[in-house]
Amino acid sequence: MSEARDSIAARVINCPRCGRETRWEKANSWRPFCSERCKLIDLGHWAEEKYRLPETESLSGSEERPP
Ligand SMILES: [Zn+2]
Repeated sequence: MSEARDSIAARVINCPRCGRETRWEKANSWRPFCSERCKLIDLGHWAEEKYRLPETESLSGSEERPP
């Protein structure tokens, strides 16, 4: 059962961005992605979605009652 050690040290995973096989290890600073590019692309998507957060508070602002 010495193979288990190896799989923990360097697990082979698939890049969630492009599906390429890459290693999950400390040396891979852009894990779980295969490359810096894939990581940046994914982060870019997240940033875009953050920017697009819809502001629905102004729509339900009819809570004010006159005295
Ligand atoms: Zn990739």
